[in-house]
Amino acid sequence: MKRILVTGGAGFIGSHLCGRLLEAGNEVICLDNFFTGSRQNIYPYLNNPNFELVRHDITKEYFAEVDYIYNLACPASPPHYQYNAIKTIKTSILGVMNMLGLAKRCKARILQASTSEVYGNPKIHPQTEDYWGNVNPIGIRSCYDEGKRCAETLMMDYHRQNNVDIRIVRIFNTYGPNMAQNDGRVVSNFILQALKDEDITIYGDGSQTRSFCYVDDLIDGMIKMMESSCIGPVNLGNPSEFTILEFAKLVLKLTNSKSNIVYKPLPSDDPEQRKPDITLACKELDWAPKVSLEEGLLKTIKYFKELI
Ligand code: NAD
Ligand code: UDP
Repeated sequence: MKRILVTGGAGFIGSHLCGRLLEAGNEVICLDNFFTGSRQNIYPYLNNPNFELVRHDITKEYFAEVDYIYNLACPASPPHYQYNAIKTIKTSILGVMNMLGLAKRCKARILQASTSEVYGNPKIHPQTEDYWGNVNPIGIRSCYDEGKRCAETLMMDYHRQNNVDIRIVRIFNTYGPNMAQNDGRVVSNFILQALKDEDITIYGDGSQTRSFCYVDDLIDGMIKMMESSCIGPVNLGNPSEFTILEFAKLVLKLTNSKSNIVYKPLPSDDPEQRKPDITLACKELDWAPKVSLEEGLLKTIKYFKELI
């Protein structure tokens, strides 16, 4: 049994992670400022004696004796991280420094939830971990992308300079139950629009690609990474790649929806393509995603149907 701090534990991915860590018999401290997370997501754990909920913002110092830290605190959807861009970058820099300071003080192992956004609008396809990326430092996505890049730098420097035991995973587009209704990312937007027979809003012409990973697969990979000796960065994602138009058509089919597809302007710096090379995760973690897009979408559609 370990005492594990999960920052951002009331969010989409964090809530699944808390559940899995509790199931495995660990003590979990879920720390969250509830900017995008919700009590609803962690409701099933509130009466578990091994679960503790702390309302706290990681841009302020936090002290606890823990063995592991999973640092997930950070809004992840473009509308949410752009809502208060300065706060987003503070979360990735001041917040990560606070968590690294905590890891150093109590000799905890710390895993940073980094992102495929560190590759920006990638010129190498699929993306391998040794690719340094193509990121606009002054655009509307920069508060998130550059924040996450700086967070990786801080992780590596605390490791080299202070011997902090680190792990870095670069998460590619992940979806599943517990995504917020107002999340604004493509999976929740399209499913909700389809279920309500509202127009499906494709940004741009729909030729941009993404690769979608079901949340259960991602959690397997994150836990394997924490337990492995590899510090990373390691890509975690599903390598099956779809255009956004193909994705919209699949959602329409699986929901039996009467919605029409409409086209809206493409936001600036929206990456044209994204697909993880997961060779390193296969080799180091013996990990590969198992859930197909159709199977994962059906579970996510069921979740949103019950929610609305
Ligand atoms: P989410 O928005 O659902 O969860 C983020 C959680 O962090 C929320 O509960 C939010 O309230 C909390 N939070 C935000 N700022 C905080 C702060 N300053 N202090 C304390 N708590 C704070 O997003 P998610 O999809 O679950 O993403 C979780 C992590 O995984 C993020 O770090 C994100 O960058 C990373 N990630 C996610 C994806 C994805 O596709 N879901 C892809 C790449 C990386
Ligand atoms: N997108 C879209 N319609 C929406 C929401 C998103 O066409 O209602 C597009 C978006 O422009 C991007 C892709 O879907 O090209 C994935 O967007 P998301 O916000 O989910 O994540 P990103 O990978 O861009 O961070």
